[in-house]
Amino acid sequence: MDTADNNQMPNNIPLPPQFYSYATGQPFDTCVICQTYLLLPGTQYMIEKAIIRYPEAGITDVAFEYAMCLPCSEKMRQSLSTDSLARIESYFREHANLAGRQELLQRPGKPEPKEWVATCLLNNTPIEEAAEYQLIAQCDGPNMVVGLAPYMISGRAADELSELLSAQTKEVLDDFIDEHFGLPPELKALIKEKNLLLL
Ligand SMILES: [Zn+2]
Repeated sequence: MDTADNNQMPNNIPLPPQFYSYATGQPFDTCVICQTYLLLPGTQYMIEKAIIRYPEAGITDVAFEYAMCLPCSEKMRQSLSTDSLARIESYFREHANLAGRQELLQRPGKPEPKEWVATCLLNNTPIEEAAEYQLIAQCDGPNMVVGLAPYMISGRAADELSELLSAQTKEVLDDFIDEHFGLPPELKALIKEKNLLLL
């Protein structure tokens, strides 16, 4: 039976397991940069997971994943070039299918977070056809905040976004990968080549 709530656009829902840490099987609990504890209500942070698929082997791998508190994420944005950020924002304005998202989020019934990331926000590529993709969520303590996020960015869209970044911005993002992910060099190279980091 439908309750009144089911017909409202969801605002906060418990974090879906798709956004849990692959490494621990639990929700992320600390900021990747400053180690702030994240799971107290009122603590705002974002989660990003970069997935690489190897269809022939039937393998899906998490290239990297992290949670970052809002203050660290703002600091990081400030270290990126304003030109890069402006180009990214205008790309989103031009390509993001916001009307389609609105409709999806307002669909009556139980929230279906998996459907919200089933196609690329920027070019509608279905998740099962994306060789690489990134999942992005905004969170508040134990909950996911539903607005523009959560969304999925396919590898193809990430490539196009990467072309909009200045050399300086790419360097900041590369340094972030080097500093915060204890990855083997081959995987780091793959992440950089595939432009898998997007903030
Ligand atoms: Zn932090």
